[in-house]
Amino acid sequence: MNPIIAANWKMNMNINEGLSLVNNILDSSPSKKSQVIFFPPFITLNAISDRLKNTRYEVGVQNIHHEQSGAFTGEISAQMIKSLDVQYAIIGHSERRQFFHETDYQINKKIHNALSANLFPILCIGETLEERESGETSKVLKKQLSSALKDVDSDVKGLIVAYEPVWAIGTGITANSNQVNEAHGFINETTSQLLENPVPILYGGSANADNAAELFQIKNVDGFLIGGASLKSESFCQIIKNIT
Ligand code: PEP
Repeated sequence: MNPIIAANWKMNMNINEGLSLVNNILDSSPSKKSQVIFFPPFITLNAISDRLKNTRYEVGVQNIHHEQSGAFTGEISAQMIKSLDVQYAIIGHSERRQFFHETDYQINKKIHNALSANLFPILCIGETLEERESGETSKVLKKQLSSALKDVDSDVKGLIVAYEPVWAIGTGITANSNQVNEAHGFINETTSQLLENPVPILYGGSANADNAAELFQIKNVDGFLIGGASLKSESFCQIIKNIT
């Protein structure tokens, strides 16, 4: 399987900045072997997906609302996104869980809505530092997986899981090889019990050009979800080059 590299721009990049970033990445053409997906802010989706038409790069949304339509001022549903040339949706990012109080129930509804709108979900799961230090990592991962995937058809296709320890996101601290090996192994085992098709597992949490190659050697690491290092073409292209 080709590595999957997802670029989560978060609340960064206006239209001109986003276009300039993808133009630089297209110019440096880092690899033909990886599957690269950009997650720009909503307002730039159209411009970025237009620019990437007829290229090998894909586009996704950073979030969707858990209902399909209705009186939810300021929100956007999977069904609305479907009219754009967008293939993926990040669901359950820890920043959404933490700052917007997203619940397991809402995350499960988002997964169902994404799938019914033909968006492939990238489901983010991960433990806090407190949970890790009290030995609850596996329990947390299992609960997040089983509640997010509740009533999802066992033959679902296109689902991706991102293991993102909360304490490693945006902190410059990366999970070490043992921690990644253990968590990815556990996620692989759990998803194989719940689902029939293999589920790629991405690592996210301060991944960068210096650590990506080593982390990519670990079993069950199928790629990366990258925040900070995806905002500059040099660091982003270097990650791609280092793992392909
Ligand atoms: C993320 O936001 O999903 C992420 C992994 O961010 P960073 O790479 O900046 O830690």
